[in-house]
Amino acid sequence: MADKRIWNFNPGPATMPVAVLEKAKNEMLDYAGTGMSVMELSHRSKAYEAIQNSARALLAELLGIPANYKVLFLQGGASFQFAMIPMNLLPAGKSADYILSGYWAQKAYKEAKTLGTVRVAGTTESVNFNRIPDANELQLDANAAYAHLTSNNTIFGTQWKSFPKTGSVPLIGDMSSDILSRKFDVSQFGMIYAGAQKNLGPAGVVVVIMREDLIAAGRADIPAIMKYSTHAENDSLYNTPPSYTIYLVKLVLEWVKGLGGLAAVEKRNEEKGKLLYGTIDGQGGFYKGTADAKSRSLMNVTFRLPSEELETKFISEAQAAGFAGLKGHRSVGGIRVSMYNAFEPEGIKALTDFMKEFAKKNG
Ligand SMILES: *Cc1c(COP(=O)(O)O)cnc(C)c1O
Repeated sequence: MADKRIWNFNPGPATMPVAVLEKAKNEMLDYAGTGMSVMELSHRSKAYEAIQNSARALLAELLGIPANYKVLFLQGGASFQFAMIPMNLLPAGKSADYILSGYWAQKAYKEAKTLGTVRVAGTTESVNFNRIPDANELQLDANAAYAHLTSNNTIFGTQWKSFPKTGSVPLIGDMSSDILSRKFDVSQFGMIYAGAQKNLGPAGVVVVIMREDLIAAGRADIPAIMKYSTHAENDSLYNTPPSYTIYLVKLVLEWVKGLGGLAAVEKRNEEKGKLLYGTIDGQGGFYKGTADAKSRSLMNVTFRLPSEELETKFISEAQAAGFAGLKGHRSVGGIRVSMYNAFEPEGIKALTDFMKEFAKKNG
């Protein structure tokens, strides 16, 4: 690893694969003999189009995206999708289902509420979102325009292990913090979206994977820039895309493919999770995971120490030992270890060694 890089547990923007940063550095001044940086290329040039097409093809290959879906690269982050989804897909006279499993799910719900009729189809708010709702706790509306869920709850450290069956109602998933971290069946969803800055690259682009019939069914009486159909018809080149970010997403996708694709990444993430959760559970109760065991996330791991004083001490001693970004979100407190795909297993090993030492000294 390059000198001076520390173990970066930031929840997003998050650590990038070093190999990707190195490659971007090597290509910074002259991309593929163009004599320009990618950020200086015209978005209408052949060289740039090849980058964007390759990012799209790699994502389709890695996720096994069926032929009747389109991949779009949009701006405004995942939060923009909170509005764009109901604007396109929630017509007057219909209602949309939202499953509330955490902070981002609630934000999506609140935004949709400003645009149409929405229902809560399940929530674990009463237990401070420490778990994913059980299948038998969901009350899904068979006539809903769509049903929305958040596959990984970045702040609360919980993750859906399997997704609810919604029949003919299109399921929409905010996968911002766990896309590409494990295998799943894209065809269970009508639409998936993910801000890039956790598992796909730097901030600045949101990837949308959407079934063609849903794109076509979008409302026609909204501004062109807000319509999925506009971006689909123009191959995400309706206006200037965040070209340099998309280039970095392409490099990250190549890196994932080089690791062995989703099966290999999933295994790597499971091993990191086993080591870290094993350490949390194995120190005689010094560390307490905040998520219910069966909802534990492999991307964001949340836990508490016996007191807030010890948590502050843990964070500052960890920082001094070379571990950054461990402070939990204010709504949960404690510690949050964000370990997306790019986070190297070696860093989890180092953190668990630190945790054992800390428990021994302070327990
Ligand atoms: C980070 C995050 C968001 C917000 O993403 P922005 O790109 O900042 O809008 C939304 N949903 C989830 C699950 C997230 O983790």
